[in-house]
Amino acid sequence: MISKTDTKECPMCGERMRRKDMELVDLVPGTSEAKRRKVSEWVCPECDYFEEIEQEGRK
Ligand SMILES: [Zn+2]
Repeated sequence: MISKTDTKECPMCGERMRRKDMELVDLVPGTSEAKRRKVSEWVCPECDYFEEIEQEGRK
């Protein structure tokens, strides 16, 4: 599990990674529906490593 800190060390270079939050829109094929989901990832400013943060999603 991921703790609720807002920094994390990069496993590649040890640099502090930044958390990036964004919203993705998925279009549902065959309909005009679009589903939005929030995605967070850690991004390393040094080596461009990134890691998706798993979120407890509502199903
Ligand atoms: Zn790095």
